[in-house]
Amino acid sequence: MIRIGHGYDVHQLVPDRKLILGGVKIPHTLGLLGHSDADVLLHAIADALLGALALGDIGKHFPDTDPTYQNADSLELLKHVVSLIEQQNYRLGNLDAIVIAQKPKLAPYIPEMRRNIADACNADLSQISIKATTEERLGFTGEEKGISAHCVALLIDCT
Ligand code: ZN
Repeated sequence: MIRIGHGYDVHQLVPDRKLILGGVKIPHTLGLLGHSDADVLLHAIADALLGALALGDIGKHFPDTDPTYQNADSLELLKHVVSLIEQQNYRLGNLDAIVIAQKPKLAPYIPEMRRNIADACNADLSQISIKATTEERLGFTGEEKGISAHCVALLIDCT
């Protein structure tokens, strides 16, 4: 038995916030706005994992009205989601994610993002694909108003 999930997330880019993607702090003039650390990539991944087992979304599990999650480390949130998956005897088959950002160049940070995500998912690096692209200066990502991320994930039943 295999299950597929899809996740999508967007956060606004603003001054005076850190830019954290895939658990990596990236030097940039703008950062992502959000209740947690606003790690848009990890949020899309967590939503894909939850979606694969029809467990709702991260807004349901970690409400932004709950002060517990103020500036929360999204790697910890992802680990919690993985524990929910494992409680149901599923494990990650693979995931494929893409971050859409006009700036900065993300390629140098992708190896560290993959390692963080593999660790959080109790998975091997070969199961984690992270890509980055721009939208050619079009739309809100192209105008540097925000960053979006998509993820698809396959879960495997271990029972
Ligand atoms: Zn988010």
